Amino acid sequence: MTYSCLICQNQKLFKVYEQGSYRIMKCPNCGFGVLDPYPTIEQANTIYSPDYFDDKKSPDFIKDATRKYNYVNKHLQASSKILDFGGGVGDFVGVAKKGGYQLYAYDVSTYAMEHVHKTFNIPTYTPPLSVDLFSKSQFDAIVAFDVIEHLPNFREVLNFFYVWLTEKSEPKQSGKLFMTMPNIDSWDTKLMGKYSYGYKKIPQHINYFSPQSISIVAKEAGFTVDEIKLWGFERSLDFVFSKLKLERLRHITHQLGIANLTFYYPMHDMMVSLSKNND
Ligand SMILES: [Zn+2]
Repeated sequence: MTYSCLICQNQKLFKVYEQGSYRIMKCPNCGFGVLDPYPTIEQANTIYSPDYFDDKKSPDFIKDATRKYNYVNKHLQASSKILDFGGGVGDFVGVAKKGGYQLYAYDVSTYAMEHVHKTFNIPTYTPPLSVDLFSKSQFDAIVAFDVIEHLPNFREVLNFFYVWLTEKSEPKQSGKLFMTMPNIDSWDTKLMGKYSYGYKKIPQHINYFSPQSISIVAKEAGFTVDEIKLWGFERSLDFVFSKLKLERLRHITHQLGIANLTFYYPMHDMMVSLSKNND
């Protein structure tokens, strides 16, 4: 099947990964990788059952949310209005609420949004998603952590974000958009090739951005790229060894009483920091 790159329309893509009936095809020009076959929005949305979120209830995820919050917090004015887009059960909301921000949450999962509303008492929203869901310039910042790699309509969603973010007018700064996502050009993916951890989330991950391809899409949507930063995750030794199926090492860490020791692995992801460009 011939595909052209969703970002730069280059026609010559090459296969970087194959699993069952799925392939990841990469563009040598802009670095973007695409899942083949590519799902419709309806197909993509069927994945997010309550089980999907129950897997993510772990203290390690709160540590991830805190690290993201600390980054975002440096760039925002006090009591900013923040939309957490696709934030699931609200790890980020829980941390950011303590910082005095006014928070709103949207997620495709009704289950997740009921949980967030009950736990944090903030306004929550579920599909249908349209530009009218929020008003023009409603938010000082939008965070979409680990979301864009799941969205078949990522261009449309970036356009919505642009509309919903504030315009620069003293004393207000331009609206900020913060996103994390896997980086297909990360050093570990280059090193591991088809064994990369980044290719193991099929079919949930359908877009595989590189710093170059996310910059192209962001600029097309009207944003200025402020920073693209190496990002990662914090996990316990127990979590890492169990995911890698290294049971003997896992057993040893338990014997030594260090199974819950956590480390930060800054490798596979990137934090993309953007501003609404009013020019
Ligand atoms: Zn391309």
